[in-house]
Amino acid sequence: MNNASDPQYLEKLRAIAARLKAHIGPIVVAAHEDPDGDALGSVLGLTRALQKLDLNAVPVGVSPKYLEFLPEAGELSSSFETLPADALLVALDSAEVTRVVGVPMNQAGIPIINMDHHGSNPRFGEIALVSPDKAATAMMVKDLVVALGVALDARIAAPILTGVITDTGFFRNSNANGEVLRAAADLIEAGASMVGINEALSITTRNSFKLQSEVYATIRYDLGGLVISATVDDAMLERVGCTWEEVESMVGYLRNAEGTVLACLFKDYGDRVKISLRSKGGVSAQNIAVALGGGGHVPAAGATVNAGLEVAREKLFAEAERELKRLGLI
Ligand code: 5GP
Ligand code: MN
Repeated sequence: MNNASDPQYLEKLRAIAARLKAHIGPIVVAAHEDPDGDALGSVLGLTRALQKLDLNAVPVGVSPKYLEFLPEAGELSSSFETLPADALLVALDSAEVTRVVGVPMNQAGIPIINMDHHGSNPRFGEIALVSPDKAATAMMVKDLVVALGVALDARIAAPILTGVITDTGFFRNSNANGEVLRAAADLIEAGASMVGINEALSITTRNSFKLQSEVYATIRYDLGGLVISATVDDAMLERVGCTWEEVESMVGYLRNAEGTVLACLFKDYGDRVKISLRSKGGVSAQNIAVALGGGGHVPAAGATVNAGLEVAREKLFAEAERELKRLGLI
C-alpha cells in the first residue's frame, strides 16, 4: 500500500495534459461503478474542460438519482461496447481496472490514462497518476484543468466542487486539509455554488427517512463497543420503497457513533455482501478491506464478500479484531 503522494505528480500531470491535447480522436472519460460525487463530478469536470479546448471528450456514466443535478440533459453517454479505434480512455477515481464501468477496459490498442487517489490502485494504464494524499480525484482533475490551461468556469467548477464535497464528507473528514479548502475557494470564486451543491446533496426523501429507521433498528456494537454495524437487504428496501442507491450515505451516519472507531454497513444482496467501512482514531478501514479482497482509503474503504451475511460478518469481525489488536485497542 502506498499512501504517499506520487513524487512525479506535477510532471505526470503535465504529461497527461500534453497527451490529451495532442490526441486526435475521441477522449472517453469514465469512472467507477455505482458512481459517487467524486466519480461523476470528476468525469464531468474534466470532459467540460477538454471540450472548452475543442477536444472531442465524451463523458461516460449513469447518474444516481441524488446526483442528477450534475449532468445536463443528454450529456452522459451510458456505455460503449467497443470504442472507436482512435479513442483514448481516461479512467477516473477507479481503484481497479474491473471497477471502471461503461467502457471495455481490455480493448486492444486503446491507451488508458489512470487518475485516482486510492492507495490500492495497481497503477494500470499508459500513464498512471495515483495520489492517495489527494482528498478526491476531483482535486487532481482541478489540477489537470489548470495544467491544460483552461480557465475554471461555473460549469467546470461545480462538478469538481461536488467531488471535493462528497469525498471529504462536506469538509468534515480528516482529508479536508488546507489544500482542499483553498481549492474549494478557487472553485467557488469560479462560480460554483457551494450552498446549491450542499442543498442538492442533502435532500432526503420520505422513504429514505423510513429506511434510516429500519437500518438503525439493526445496529449492533461489537469488539468491546468499538465497532458499530448495521445491515440492509432487499426486503428492507422493498418495504420502504427505496433503492440501493439510497443506502450509500448511511454508513456515514453510523460513523458518528459515540465511542466507536469503526463503522460497518453490511449490504446484503443475498448471494454476496458488500461491506462499507468507515474508521477513525488511527484505525485503517483500508487494511480491513484489503484483507477481504477490497480496497479504498484509510478512513473509508469497502469490499465484497461472495457469501451470505453470517460468513461476511465473521470475516469482517475477524479482520476488524486483527486491526484493533494491531493498534493495541483490544
Ligand atoms: P463505499 O463504502 O462508499 O462504497 O466505498 C468507500 C471507499 O472504498 C471508496 O473509495 C471505494 O472506492 C472503496 N471501495 C468500496 N468497495 C470496494 C471494493 O470492493 N474494492 C475496492 N478496491 N475498493 C472499494
Ligand atoms: Mn474518490
